[in-house]
Amino acid sequence: MPQTIHSLRVETTCAKCKDNCCSQPYDWVYLTQAEIARLTDATGRQESDFVVKRTNVVTGGVFAALDLPCVFLDKLSGKCTVHSVRPLVCRLFPFYADPVTGQAMFYPSQCGSNLVLLSPDSSRGWNLAQYRGAVEEWIRDIWKEALKRSPKNASYPASKTDSEGSP
Ligand code: SF4
Ligand code: SF4
Repeated sequence: MPQTIHSLRVETTCAKCKDNCCSQPYDWVYLTQAEIARLTDATGRQESDFVVKRTNVVTGGVFAALDLPCVFLDKLSGKCTVHSVRPLVCRLFPFYADPVTGQAMFYPSQCGSNLVLLSPDSSRGWNLAQYRGAVEEWIRDIWKEALKRSPKNASYPASKTDSEGSP
C-alpha cells in the first residue's frame, strides 16, 4: 500500500541542526491565542514583540502569526529558546499543516542529513497521523479566532480534512 504523507515515519536529530526549520519556506507560523499565551508566560515578552496580524489574500481572513525572523531563535547557537512551548507549526516540522488550504506538506530538504525516513512499522520516530487530533483542534481555534478579527465579508473555505494530504 502506498504511504501517505500522514503515515511517513520520520526521525530527526534536531540537536545537530541549526535554525533550518525556523527559516522554512512556508513562512506563516500560525498561532492560536493559547500558543501566544504560553509563549508570553514562558518568556515574559509582550504579544506585540513576536506576533503579527496577517491577512490571507484568498479568504480575507486575519490570522495571528509569528513575526519572522523569530525573536526566540538564538542567533549564535541556532537553537530555539522556547523549545518546550514552541508552537504546533514548529513542533510538526518537517511537516506543515496549512489551515487555509487544508493541505499537509513535507519539507525534507530543510532537515537534510538530520532526517531519517523510517519504515512505517518502526518503533522509532513519529508520523503526522499521531498529531491528527491536535491539528484538527488547532485548525478549529485558528479559524474561530481569525473569524473574530476579520471583516464580515471574509470567506472561509470548507474543511478538507477527509482528503488525501489534508492535515
Ligand atoms: S530542520 Fe528538521 S532536523 Fe532541523 S531542527 Fe528543524 S525539524 Fe529538526
Ligand atoms: S519558536 Fe523556536 S522553533 Fe519556532 S520559529 Fe521560533 S525559534 Fe524556531
